[in-house]
Amino acid sequence: MAVFQKSFRLSTRGNCDVVNISDPVTRAVTESGIRCGIANVSGRGSTLGITTLEYESGCVKDFQRALDLIAPPNSDYAHNARWGDNNGYSHLRSALVGTAKSFPVREGRLALGTWQQIVLCDFDDSPRDREVTVTVAGE
Ligand code: ZN
Repeated sequence: MAVFQKSFRLSTRGNCDVVNISDPVTRAVTESGIRCGIANVSGRGSTLGITTLEYESGCVKDFQRALDLIAPPNSDYAHNARWGDNNGYSHLRSALVGTAKSFPVREGRLALGTWQQIVLCDFDDSPRDREVTVTVAGE
């Protein structure tokens, strides 16, 4: 079994910015040369999320609106009281969405649906630089 790993960086606007990272992830899978296996996509940090979404403005807005209901920015958070932080909601959103996802690699490509894009969501309350690591294992 071969294992390939590659990281890339991107800048976000924070505040629930949803960034389509399908292209750099796809490039890493192609570069790995692995035909059959699994690709793990992991974002580094405790205030971001990695998931899939149909990447169009309506879906992005619905996703952001749902998160505003589940973990509103201005609610009471123990994290804010404990640390004098303002991003308790960011950590909570990150925990709920998760910071990594794995996808099958079939015939050298990510086995995803046509309308299924891989996105990084930045839940923090200010612009950030983020690191994403793609690990491909298989043969
Ligand atoms: Zn914090």
